[in-house]
Amino acid sequence: MNDDLRGAALPRVLIEYGSDVFWRTGPELCLEYVSPNVTRFLGYSPAEMLGRPVTDFVEWEHDQQVPATLDEGSVTLRGIAVCRDGSRRWFENHVLPMRAGDGSVVGFTGVFHDIDRQVRAERDLADSEHRYRMLAEHASEVVVQGGVDGVIDWVSPSVREALGLDPADVVGRPVVDLIHPDDHQAVRDAQAVLATGRESHFEARFLRADGSPLWNSVLVRPICDEAGTIVGRIASWRDIDREHRQREALRESEEHFRLLAINASDVVVQTANDGTVQWLSPSIEDILGYRIDDLLGRHVVELVHPDDIGLVVAAQRAALEGEPARFEARYRKADGEHTWMSVVGRPLFDDSGTVVGRVASARRVDDERAAAEALARATEAAQAANLAKTQFLSRMSHELRTPLNAVLGFAQLLGMDDLTDDQRAAVEQILRGGRHLLDLINEVLDIARIESGRVTLSPEPVMAADVVSEALELVRPLASQRDVTIAWEGPRGCERALFVDRQRTIQVLLNLLANAIKYNRDGGRVEVRCSGAGEQCEIAVSDTGIGIAAEDLPKVFEPFERLAAGSSGVEGNGIGLPLSRGLAELMGGGIGVESTPGVGSTFTVALPFATVAAAPALGVDVLAGPAVQSDTRRVLYVEDNPANAELMTAILSRRPGVAMEVAPRGDEALASIRSDAPDLVLLDLHLPDTTGEEVLRGLRSDPSTSDVPVVVLTADAAPHVRRRLLALGADAFLSKPVDVARLLAWIDDPQQSRRSS
Ligand code: ADP
Repeated sequence: MNDDLRGAALPRVLIEYGSDVFWRTGPELCLEYVSPNVTRFLGYSPAEMLGRPVTDFVEWEHDQQVPATLDEGSVTLRGIAVCRDGSRRWFENHVLPMRAGDGSVVGFTGVFHDIDRQVRAERDLADSEHRYRMLAEHASEVVVQGGVDGVIDWVSPSVREALGLDPADVVGRPVVDLIHPDDHQAVRDAQAVLATGRESHFEARFLRADGSPLWNSVLVRPICDEAGTIVGRIASWRDIDREHRQREALRESEEHFRLLAINASDVVVQTANDGTVQWLSPSIEDILGYRIDDLLGRHVVELVHPDDIGLVVAAQRAALEGEPARFEARYRKADGEHTWMSVVGRPLFDDSGTVVGRVASARRVDDERAAAEALARATEAAQAANLAKTQFLSRMSHELRTPLNAVLGFAQLLGMDDLTDDQRAAVEQILRGGRHLLDLINEVLDIARIESGRVTLSPEPVMAADVVSEALELVRPLASQRDVTIAWEGPRGCERALFVDRQRTIQVLLNLLANAIKYNRDGGRVEVRCSGAGEQCEIAVSDTGIGIAAEDLPKVFEPFERLAAGSSGVEGNGIGLPLSRGLAELMGGGIGVESTPGVGSTFTVALPFATVAAAPALGVDVLAGPAVQSDTRRVLYVEDNPANAELMTAILSRRPGVAMEVAPRGDEALASIRSDAPDLVLLDLHLPDTTGEEVLRGLRSDPSTSDVPVVVLTADAAPHVRRRLLALGADAFLSKPVDVARLLAWIDDPQQSRRSS
């Protein structure tokens, strides 16, 4: 055995304490020597290992066959040593065969070098590289790795989605190729920072495959080797296109508003929460005569007229609470004069919604205020003059009526005496002229009353058919004198009740009909048609008369305007149409006219339907009612006004299963209910013989009728009346114009309505 190969021949300290383990085997790989420091690595003492084959203590990597390999000469093998405690350690073995003089292998010697830490570190590094690469490849951001020359070595696949480019086409290209020329400077600046070893952040437009730009935020870091030399760079790009555009739009709009504020003729002022001026538009110099610098940092209240300070302070307080404010106040100009300004102030919020101040725009309104004051004075004067005219007309009419009464009275007395034909003709002339004058005076009085707002109307539900028929009856004699035929198609389209003053409506219709006959030709024709137009009924009166020229149409509603009729011999005074229009408007409607000269005219009066308030809220479903009604229900309506009863009949015509009876008097109602109680009583409060309240009291005090459902229907909706009636035992209190939906609910199921009311 060669002594050189014995451990003893090596310096002891190296063998026992070095990091390499020395060993020697026979030809069969059984250990003959192993240096003592083996214990530090494998846990075995040399004694435990000697005589045993090396293979007991190692697992070769990749099935390396030691003897076969060793035949070739010295070799380095990497493997895993099995420690005494069963753990494994990576090692490297430098093995040298020992040969006899004839060249045959007589054993092996070698050095066992522990590389466990190194191998594990290498593995960890590979793992983490793998992980980062996975992250880069799957991130939505684009990750790019390149050299110091800016050429791309590697790019994450997300570049395909981000820019529409194939990663393979990107690799090998300088990164500036992908960036908009206008942003190359940003890249160069970043490179300068990178050269100092620091990271850099910038924004630039990257070019997509189709050449369109896309804003990206770029973070780029240098890559250094162990010696700290920069060997490349790694960057990540994030798409901020939308964000960038929003920022740009915001910046542009801020710029726009800043320019507006600077160039505004109004004064724009920004104040802090304490009221001190922070910013002012240059227009302050023209409007109040101050220089901007004179006012910055001062309190706005210093400029306000002492009497108006309260308004400004209130507006500032509103701003602190996040509320806008609008007011007019006097501000002191640099020359000491005051000027009226109209101010609109709004709070200023920061991103968190906290009020940080106020922006106000103020406009000089001296001229407007002067004009408004002048207008108010003129209007007041005009109103006073109008009132004086109206009062004069009204007094005059009264004054004229008194002597006229005497004229007419005495003329009638005279007509009863025996008179000659000439005398009788003269008396008739006096009577005709007198009556005409009386009509005229009454109409002038009416016009005066309308203008002074002193006409009192008594609107009630009225059926169009009734008023039209009544007016037609009155004009028939006039029509037959002229041989004019009258056609009336009935109230088609206006079957619902109107809510109008009955007498005044007849007066309006009479006037239109009389004109249609007066200004007709002999043997002509007058036609009356109705049609529903939304919430109004339109009654049109057409004639085949002389017509009115287009330019004269607006004049026909001016008082005392008679147009050509003044010289035609047709009697009239030019008051009928203005009066009719005034009345129709007072009732919530109006009058319009269309005419063709030589062909005829059509005057149309529009009047409101009675259920104006309730009708629009009604769905078809409500009116359609319950699908199946088994029994006929009886409803007793205690009401003396026929029009109201007619309206109720129209409403209940929607309910085939309901039979309605009407009791116009309280005593009749009580008797009827006592003899045969209906399913529901609808009770009006104003009855000819008693009050609805008394009827209710009578019903509730009688055990046979105390439980009959009673719904009060009245125009008197005063809260105390309502409370009293409900306390007396009314089941519901519906005010007029009636809410048809609620009424139908009671009619459909009184018991259910009673439970849910
Ligand atoms: P009056 O009939 O008493 O003159 P109105 O005020 O009723 O006064 O009408 C004003 C004017 O309008 C009439 O004088 C007449 O010139 C014109 N007018 C009114 N109705 C008609 C009509 N149906 N056809 C032609 N002209 C008419």
